[in-house]
Amino acid sequence: MSKRIHPKAVSLADIFIKFTSNEECLEYIKGMRWPDGIVRCPTCGDKNVTKYERPAAPTRKTRSETRDKEKTNRRAWFYICLNKDCRQQFSPTSGTLFADSHLPLITWFHAIGLMLNAKKGISAKQLQRDLGIGGYKTAWYLNHRIREAMGTGDIPKLGGIVEIDETYIGGKARGQRGPRAGNKQVVVGIRERKGPLRFIHAADAKAITLKAVIDQHVSADVECYMTDESTSLNSVLRKTGKHQIVNHTRKEYVRGEVHTNSIESAFGLFKRGIVGQFHKVSIKHLQRYLDEFTYRFDRRDNGDAFIETVHRLCGFKPLRFADLTSDPQPETASVPF
Ligand SMILES: [Zn+2]
Repeated sequence: MSKRIHPKAVSLADIFIKFTSNEECLEYIKGMRWPDGIVRCPTCGDKNVTKYERPAAPTRKTRSETRDKEKTNRRAWFYICLNKDCRQQFSPTSGTLFADSHLPLITWFHAIGLMLNAKKGISAKQLQRDLGIGGYKTAWYLNHRIREAMGTGDIPKLGGIVEIDETYIGGKARGQRGPRAGNKQVVVGIRERKGPLRFIHAADAKAITLKAVIDQHVSADVECYMTDESTSLNSVLRKTGKHQIVNHTRKEYVRGEVHTNSIESAFGLFKRGIVGQFHKVSIKHLQRYLDEFTYRFDRRDNGDAFIETVHRLCGFKPLRFADLTSDPQPETASVPF
């Protein structure tokens, strides 16, 4: 396995060092929500707002009480809109998922860091242990909510050279392979050569189903489809006139540009994650796990992955770090979550 660490990749250590309190997380979201530094009321859009600090806590607090404060999502301050017809109270997280959650921001931020950093995924149980979360259900919710944010948004079609393969996940029948082996779920993998990856949970492995999946995810002007000889896709792809097959049964793995190595290694990593971290994945949630995996895979060298994920959870329009630090542009209305 590669030990390469890309200089721009998300560093878990950086996230844990940068965010040590709820206040720091709140400031970070504030910078995202109002990148030009001008705070606007989310209800009426008025810039005429005032900051209200909650009274300081009683001085004779014990250490454990101070620690407990970090375990709630109560904000130390908020804004009040001064428009006399509005008077809305709000904070940088108003209207976002974070405002409704009883979990402190720091727990969310550290959970995002852990999930982005875990190549093969991280289970709710592991998240619970690593972050000292009280209940398993809370950790499970956190895990799934972040996973869901990773799976939403635009999914552009793939083009150029695409490698396609299918695999079967789950099921109890031993010693059987292929679509008729027990209750196995069909997953189609499509990878643009040197580009994005898609995993799609298909209803079955019938040619008509797989064709619909391919049409949905691959651009019509694709240069070439590459598969191995065993896939049920070959009958579908043969007719396109853009199809190349690598023949594994003849011990052929790479013929020049013709190979399916990158889609096979991605499937391998996903399956090791299922076995090693999750043990089992319910059919209902399988697509979410697939989306989480491809989201992380596509951003493994991307230093903006953390900020993008927080943005998605807030429901703000995704912005890259470069966008945030370029010339301040008046922000158009934030999209409430
Ligand atoms: Zn207002």
